[in-house]
Amino acid sequence: MLVRVAIDLALDRLFDYEVPKELEKKLAVGQLLSVPFGHRTARGFAMEIGDEGSGVRGQGSGGRSYALKPIEAIVDEEPFFSTRLLELVRALACYTAAPVESVLKAAVPAAVVKPNARAKELYFIEPALAPAPVPMTARRQWLYDQIVRLGGGWMQQLCRELKTTPASLKELGRLGLVTIAPRQKRRDPLGNMRRILPTKPLPLNGEQTAALGVISAATKPVLLFGVTGSGKTEVYLQAIAKELESDRGVIVMVPEISLTPQTVRRFASRFGDKVAVLHSALSDGERYDEWHRIRSGAARVVVGPRSAVFAPVRGLGLIVVDEEHDSSYKQDDNPRYNARDAAVLRGKIEGARVVLGSATPSLETWHNVSLGKYELAEMKCRAGAGTLPAVRLVDMSAPQRGDSSGAIFSHDLLDAVKLRLDRHEQTILFLNRRGYSRSVTCAACGATVDCAECSLPYTYHRADDCCRCHICGGWIPTPKVCPACGAPSLQYKGIGTQRAEAALAKCFPNAKILRMDADSTSRKNSHDDILSAFRRGEADVLLGTQMIAKGLDFPNVTLVGVLNADSSLNMPDFRAAERTFQLLAQVSGRAGRAELPGEVVIQSYDPSAPAIVAAARGDFAAFAKEELSVREECFFPPFCHLAAVNLRSKDLKLVSSWADMYAKSLMKVKGLTVSEAVPSALEKADGWYRWQVVVRSPSVSAIVKAWRWLLAQRPPPAALRAAIDVDAFNLV
Ligand code: ADP
Ligand code: ZN
Repeated sequence: MLVRVAIDLALDRLFDYEVPKELEKKLAVGQLLSVPFGHRTARGFAMEIGDEGSGVRGQGSGGRSYALKPIEAIVDEEPFFSTRLLELVRALACYTAAPVESVLKAAVPAAVVKPNARAKELYFIEPALAPAPVPMTARRQWLYDQIVRLGGGWMQQLCRELKTTPASLKELGRLGLVTIAPRQKRRDPLGNMRRILPTKPLPLNGEQTAALGVISAATKPVLLFGVTGSGKTEVYLQAIAKELESDRGVIVMVPEISLTPQTVRRFASRFGDKVAVLHSALSDGERYDEWHRIRSGAARVVVGPRSAVFAPVRGLGLIVVDEEHDSSYKQDDNPRYNARDAAVLRGKIEGARVVLGSATPSLETWHNVSLGKYELAEMKCRAGAGTLPAVRLVDMSAPQRGDSSGAIFSHDLLDAVKLRLDRHEQTILFLNRRGYSRSVTCAACGATVDCAECSLPYTYHRADDCCRCHICGGWIPTPKVCPACGAPSLQYKGIGTQRAEAALAKCFPNAKILRMDADSTSRKNSHDDILSAFRRGEADVLLGTQMIAKGLDFPNVTLVGVLNADSSLNMPDFRAAERTFQLLAQVSGRAGRAELPGEVVIQSYDPSAPAIVAAARGDFAAFAKEELSVREECFFPPFCHLAAVNLRSKDLKLVSSWADMYAKSLMKVKGLTVSEAVPSALEKADGWYRWQVVVRSPSVSAIVKAWRWLLAQRPPPAALRAAIDVDAFNLV
């Protein structure tokens, strides 16, 4: 018997091994194996099992000879991947043109596969059932009585609580008064959260009832299109409860950034111990235990970011993808899969329902609804107490009265903030401008101070008076004179969150302001700390980047201000209008979530842009109609598949000539629309020159086939990196 194994090497090839007789009966596809590889032992997954003479033969690791080596051991007899999960893995590898090993790697946490991964075992002490009489000292008797009273406990914990030592406890064990045995101790990321009182299902309103009905009856994926605050989560919860009743498992996917304790609590407080979470902030031990709870069936509801789509849930009945439009579902490294699309595929393979939820669906999903591939459930009203906020557009190109802060804050917005301060209500201010804000420019010659490694201007940081590059992280002390012409005329341009914070503090010296951006949240947990402080009412204003735009629910926020609605509109990307609409709609959704009515002020230099007008009206359908007609005319997704061939090298001539050659070769393939090779919008990053070839076609497999063929014909030299990003999200 032979087995074909995927070893974590990203060589895009599998290796065959002999199966020793004694392992033949135990071997199954999807198991983790240890195998000899070169001079070491490697771990890998069993992908196919076959006999001599079947397809499985001849790709041994043994070099020239075809003598196959035997596998060493089956690490775990319980498969890590069911045959259906393996089918998903293979399909994604195919679709994204990634090695199957890289998809396997994305699918199981490293904490579960690594050689020293194991459950935590500690000594647990229990009173013996019928201890034989032994001589008792007073101290010994007291200890024994305490252990009986507590009903037992962990060795360490008892030592601490009873102020005793392991030696004294072991002595009780030797005397037969207690039993001491190793026992698995669960590392639980939810800890205390499991102990909160369970929430009861809310009585659903009409729209929610109808939506739940559509989901229960659906034979296709369902788009749950509900305005922010329409109660989508309650619908998910009740759909999940139905699955649990018939003993089916559930996966709930949420964007990593909204995987806050608040989100997790909503699921954990309804389903308690049945909930497992998987996300990047867990310790290795927690991840190990949660993953095993899922595989064993102890946990039935998995909440996690994109990788949760691979969770080894048995009897999968439902996958929920919340905020399905979110860009974090697309992995921007190998394998470049979109977890939302992977969820739809897994649902198909496993016969599970799929619900995609959003207040601002992606145009891909919306288009699939109009093609009849997906069903639609719509919720137009807010559930519970909230009402949709009133939205006001402020034209920033009209002259503003007053002081220098006029370029940042319109008087309309300042008046609105003041009103909230007077009423002790809270405000969120949103500056859709990370990165390139606040560049340093010379007034004499117009030069900007740029990072030498990347092609972008530095961002001025006031806190430590330096210029930082937001691409490579490099920094220089702020120059005193222009590096180009030497004039002492450097000025700061653009508005960053730090400058907005300073300007606001000047207008309202008594207001308490919290700032949230990549700089203020670099510390672990600082993200949650800032949000919790704001929720507790410790600040009047929360000022931040897109980090604050998503899924958060603050009852006391009645004003949301968008300082610069246009900045994302000017990005060189065909999705710029869609992103702008989504951002504005999501941010606006933060206002008036509870009893208090909300107001939204959107500042824009281009207030007649369709995306901004539609967002201000909250009119997704109108936006989608207009934008889809543009996409169709220009042959952009969802009317085609778009893949970016990304090339980079430290050698500009090398990368440009190869990009050109690849583009010209792809142009000869029938059925593909191929752009000229061009430098990427971010031309240079970290010292690497970046070029791009955009390929479009109605057929993904046509693109992938052509690219694989080309790579085999003209493999890139060592100094050149080449990768294809199928259904690319970011062209920058
Ligand atoms: P969404 O996920 O669509 O933005 P949420 O699920 O966060 O909306 O719901 C918004 C608010 O409405 C929450 O505070 C929630 O508890 C409340 N809510 C949802 N459904 C109901 C209902 N049927 N009755 C009363 N309140 C509800
Ligand atoms: Zn740089």
